[in-house]
Amino acid sequence: VWEDIEPGEVDPILSISDVWKADADPKKLNLGVGAYRTEEGKPLVLNVVRKAEQAVVSDPGTNKEYLPMTGNAEFCQLSRELAFGKSSTPVQENRVVTVQTLSGTGALRLGAEFLAAHYPCKLVYLSDPSWPSHLTIFNKVGLQVRYYRYFHAESKGLDFQGLISDLCSAPQGSVVVLHNCAHNPTGCDPTLQQWRAILEIVVQRQLLPFFDSAYQGFASGDLDEDAASLRMFSAAPGMELLLAQSYAKNMGLYGERVGALSVQCLSKRVGSRIEGQLKALIRPMYSNPPIHGAAIAAKILRDKDLYEEWKVELAGMAGRIKAMRQALYEELQRRKAPGDWSFILRQIGMFSYTGLTREQCEIMTRKHHVYLTMEGRISMAGLSASRAGYLAEAIVDAIKT
Ligand code: PMP
Repeated sequence: VWEDIEPGEVDPILSISDVWKADADPKKLNLGVGAYRTEEGKPLVLNVVRKAEQAVVSDPGTNKEYLPMTGNAEFCQLSRELAFGKSSTPVQENRVVTVQTLSGTGALRLGAEFLAAHYPCKLVYLSDPSWPSHLTIFNKVGLQVRYYRYFHAESKGLDFQGLISDLCSAPQGSVVVLHNCAHNPTGCDPTLQQWRAILEIVVQRQLLPFFDSAYQGFASGDLDEDAASLRMFSAAPGMELLLAQSYAKNMGLYGERVGALSVQCLSKRVGSRIEGQLKALIRPMYSNPPIHGAAIAAKILRDKDLYEEWKVELAGMAGRIKAMRQALYEELQRRKAPGDWSFILRQIGMFSYTGLTREQCEIMTRKHHVYLTMEGRISMAGLSASRAGYLAEAIVDAIKT
C-alpha cells in the first residue's frame, strides 16, 4: 500500500544535526540546533538538575503511577507562578488554568488544538520570520497563518513600524503569537516601551495573544526580567491569553520534554470549563504526560536552595552566550569583515540572525563545515571562545566568495 508514499518533509533545523554528525571533518561546528553547549562543546546537565534528580529517585514516595491528564499539579502551579509572578492578580483569582505538556512544542500544539476547537477566529499571526514549527503546528490544526513584519533586514533589528502597522490591520479577534523574550530566530526583542505599544494594539483590535516562552531566563539571565512582556499583557484589564512554556533551555531538560500550557481567562468558572476541554483534547492524544522531568523541575522550583542555585547556573549560561557574542564580534572586527556587525551585540538570547544569504550559508557549510540554518541563523550557545576566530574566518570568506 505504501509503494508510492512520498518521503516526509525534512525538518529544516533537526536535519542539520544529522548531516553534522555524518561530517568527519574535525573542524566541524554545529550552530544549527538551539541547544546549549559548554566551552568544550559538550551538552550540559545543570548541577541543580543532577541534585534534584537524585532527590526525586531516592525519595521513597516516588512511584511510576500515571499522572492525571493535566499532569503534576504542583509543577503546574509553580510554572504558572514562574511565568506570571506569584503576586499576579489573574493567578490569585484562580483564572489561569495550567496543564503540563510535552515541552514547549506540546504546549503550542495543545493550545492550537484548543483554539481550533473553541475559538471563533481562525486566523493566526506569526512574526516574519518565526520558529518554523509555529507555521506547521497552526496549519496542522486547520488554522490559517499570516505574518506580521518583524525583522528589518537593513538594520538587522526590529521592524517596529512594520509590526505595528500589520497588527493594526489584522482582523479583529486574530490570534497573535508573541515570543516573550529572546526571539527565535532573530534575537531581536521589543523594548518595554514597544511592548506597551503592541499591547495597546492588541487591546484595540481585540487580538488574542499566544505567548511562546521557550527562553525565560536565557535572554537577560534574569527570570523576572524575561517575563516582563507576558506580565504586562496579563495585567491588562479584561485580558485573555495563552502561554506555552518550555524548560528545555532554561533547565537544560531538552529530552525530558517538560513544559506547560496556561490559559488566562476571565473567571474561575470559565477556567474550570477550559480545563475540562483541555483534558478532552489530552485524553485521546497521549492520555497523560510523563512524570520524571516534571518532578525534577517541580523540585527545583519548590526548594529554595535549589531555586537559588538554578538562577546562578542560568545566569552563567546566559553570560557565556553574551561572551560569545562579544568574542565573535571582536574576531570579525579583527578580520575587517565588511559591513557593520554590531547587531551581534544588540541581538539577544540563544540566536543571532546574521543576514548571510542562502548561498553564503551553503559556503559556510560545504567549505568550512559550519552548520547553520539556511536563513543565516546561528546558535551562539553552540560557539566557544576557541572557535570564534574560525567562525569569523568562515563568515568573512563566505561574504567575499
Ligand atoms: N518555541 C520556540 C520559539 C523555540 O525556539 C522552541 C525550541 N526550539 C520551542 C518553542 C519549543 O521547544 P521544546 O518543544 O523543545 O520545548
